[in-house]
Amino acid sequence: MTEIASRGTATDVNGAKNSGASGGPGTLQNLIGGKLTASATPRFLPLLNPSSGEEIGSVPLSTASELDEAVKSATKAQVEWAAKPLKDRVQVMFRMKTLVEDQIDHLSEIVTLENGKTLAESRGSVLRAVECLEYAASLPQLASGSIQQVSPGVECKMYRYPVGVVAGITPFNFPFMVPLWMIPMAVSLGNAFVLKPSEQTPLSAMEIGRLLAEAGLPDGVFSVVHGDREVVEAICDHPDIKAVAFVGSTKVAETVYHRSTRNNKRVRALGGAKNHLIVVPDADPEMIATNVVASVAGCAGQRCMAASVLLAVGNVDPILELIREKMGALKAGVDIGAIISNEAYDRITGYLDRAAENGATLVLDGRDAVSEDAPAGGNYLGGCIIDHASPEHEASCEEIFGPTLTIIRCKTLEQAMAIENASPYGNAAAIYTSSGGTAQYFTERASAGMIGVNIGVPVPREPFAFGGWNDSRFGEGDLTGDSAIDFWTNSKKVTTKWSSIGTANWMS
Ligand code: NAD
Repeated sequence: MTEIASRGTATDVNGAKNSGASGGPGTLQNLIGGKLTASATPRFLPLLNPSSGEEIGSVPLSTASELDEAVKSATKAQVEWAAKPLKDRVQVMFRMKTLVEDQIDHLSEIVTLENGKTLAESRGSVLRAVECLEYAASLPQLASGSIQQVSPGVECKMYRYPVGVVAGITPFNFPFMVPLWMIPMAVSLGNAFVLKPSEQTPLSAMEIGRLLAEAGLPDGVFSVVHGDREVVEAICDHPDIKAVAFVGSTKVAETVYHRSTRNNKRVRALGGAKNHLIVVPDADPEMIATNVVASVAGCAGQRCMAASVLLAVGNVDPILELIREKMGALKAGVDIGAIISNEAYDRITGYLDRAAENGATLVLDGRDAVSEDAPAGGNYLGGCIIDHASPEHEASCEEIFGPTLTIIRCKTLEQAMAIENASPYGNAAAIYTSSGGTAQYFTERASAGMIGVNIGVPVPREPFAFGGWNDSRFGEGDLTGDSAIDFWTNSKKVTTKWSSIGTANWMS
């Protein structure tokens, strides 16, 4: 058992201890009303370390009534929390930022333990979460409302109010960062937040609960309810949850969006992706190859911003060869972390097995690039390339969510743009070129919310807002940045006349 597992961190919120026999986190508990609470569910999932396959604990698949308990305690806590001024509420985020920075090694180890990504990647994800805390901490400067004289003697003011109790449902691939896309903004703006983390990576959620408590957040303002579909559906249906943020696959995002909006909630649901990179002959080979490989293979390709289709325009063979060399040099288990589960590994390798169907060629098979040092029992896969795929090939169209790149050969930039535009997804798209005109042509026409020019993972950092288009997002607006201010608040407009000018009214 690793050192971090032996710290039993998943269950030491408020000093409670629940270590498993092996010193791991044991059976996780929910965090309700500031207390760790054992779930009464008969259903539990083993919690596996993806790097080794070792069982490190178990996760309760909680019931709808446990979600209801969390909402009840959140409803009480939210009233007092919302009564505090914004400048006081954000102090929790200031303190949490410092705590996260002080404990970054430990938090990164937890992310690696539950998710299987490399420690450097986990650290990067924790640092991105710190930026979200910083942004929320500056809310008094950003969300002060507005006032204007709209007629002689008449002024209109806009106030922001919290929405109430809100919920977040998050995926396995960024267990610390994605919840912090939501929680700092939602909580600072006066809401109480109920988190349903991925049942595959629930440990970071408990760390978030511990850190928020240490930072001074009152009990009940943040809750964690572990679970699967039952809890998600209970969130969508609960009359006292007013807003839902979701991040995960498109199929579930769409379901959560429709079910929650049918229940009159506001919803932002980010879905899956199939991100296109366009490479034209004038691009710098060395820079592109390094950048493309990092985009495809980083986090073992389990990123919604990962490049997964390369549209090769004209003769770019020397560039493609360099990409193949660099990708082939990576060793899974050393340079590339683990795939989250056996099921995910089988799904990804199924695409490799079927690659040759319809005339494509598997030119790099990552099954041949697993390091001898990779721990037995983990699911490791090196970088994979499927070349000469048609735009209709399954590897060109479906989200594979592994370290795989599909190459489609295109004669013209217009043909490449047409393929990108036809994708039902629209998370990210990037072009590699040394021509400003080509970059602008692409930027204006790409059908995606986040665009890269010579950048393979074009994540907008705060204050720019994260969110895609098309089937990569259901509901208006983005999840982070300034867009989050509107999502997590209700605005109230107050028109006031104290002047004695008799003729002045709202229409004058
Ligand atoms: P997922 O959709 O399987 O799970 C996400 C959440 O939904 C989890 O909390 C899970 O418990 C819940 N869930 C799963 N199936 C459900 C069902 N049938 N009914 C109700 N709830 C259900 O996603 P994942 O495998 O955890 O994460 C990978 C996916 O997330 C990829 O598609 C990836 O592109 C996407 N993702 C998108 C973004 C983005 O910003 N657009 C960011 C990260 C990940």
